[in-house]
Amino acid sequence: MNNPLIIKSPQKLQNLVYSYKKRNKKIGFVPTMGALHKGHLSLIKKARKETDIVVVSIFVNPTQFGPNEDFKSYPRTFKEDIKLCKEYNVDIIFYPSVNTLYPDNYLTYVSVEKLSNFLCGKFRPGHFKGVATIVAKLFNIVSPDIAYFGLKDYQQYIIIKKMVRDLNFNIKIKGCPTIREKDGLALSSRNKYLSPEERNEAILLSKSLFTVKKLIQEKKLKSVDKVKNKILDILLSGNIIQKKDIDYIEIVDAETLEEKKDLKGKFVIALAVHIGKARLIDNIIIRN
Ligand code: AMP
Repeated sequence: MNNPLIIKSPQKLQNLVYSYKKRNKKIGFVPTMGALHKGHLSLIKKARKETDIVVVSIFVNPTQFGPNEDFKSYPRTFKEDIKLCKEYNVDIIFYPSVNTLYPDNYLTYVSVEKLSNFLCGKFRPGHFKGVATIVAKLFNIVSPDIAYFGLKDYQQYIIIKKMVRDLNFNIKIKGCPTIREKDGLALSSRNKYLSPEERNEAILLSKSLFTVKKLIQEKKLKSVDKVKNKILDILLSGNIIQKKDIDYIEIVDAETLEEKKDLKGKFVIALAVHIGKARLIDNIIIRN
């Protein structure tokens, strides 16, 4: 166990990282919005294994929330987060205020074109601009050697990889597998919004993905439309989810995120569904 250093000032962190780098220490970075769960902890564990100094940022980033989204109600559990960081031997928690990162008259944004318009981008305009901007800022503050992202947010992972290549950040991006509850539900800070009935209905997301993956592999589902219809059937098989609650069910190329016309190569089946107050996303990666 390690008492993590809590730093709120970007400049302080930059100076500290500089001193570590002079001593050839490898910096691992896990950006989060807090309310830490086993998904986040899996990234932290990997960083702990692969790097010398582990930095976790906890920042609920206002620029990635739309005006009618849950910025205000997003779970904030800093005290518990500190305990978990201590348990998992995090060295530094970066915990800036909104005003520190976005002072009055803040004007600079990063936008990864095209990739930001697919999937969730269609339903959350400006979301990935907010994500790319905050991650670019955090990368400049933390200067990590390796940054860890969850494949649960697959589009985010692809967009960050593209940003790093396009803007010449000297940072390795690692995508880490989605951590799930025993019944398949992908862990998410937003699962806290679900009532017990909604929590039970939420199983249908992963169930639909696992079911079609098996059917594709057994060659029992052979077209994009059939796969989408099967997922839709499963999502609508419970008591709560209705068609209007489904933002999308899409099958996209794993690199370009363009819609697939067939089920060949490496692709991702992704979906976004509203259940109660929560908007849940999930995906599965398939090599066929
Ligand atoms: P968030 O705090 O939701 O912004 O997530 C911070 C990081 O944790 C992102 O890279 C997410 O993709 C990752 N993450 C969130 N949930 C999971 C999960 N269930 N499994 C693996 N990684 C996750």
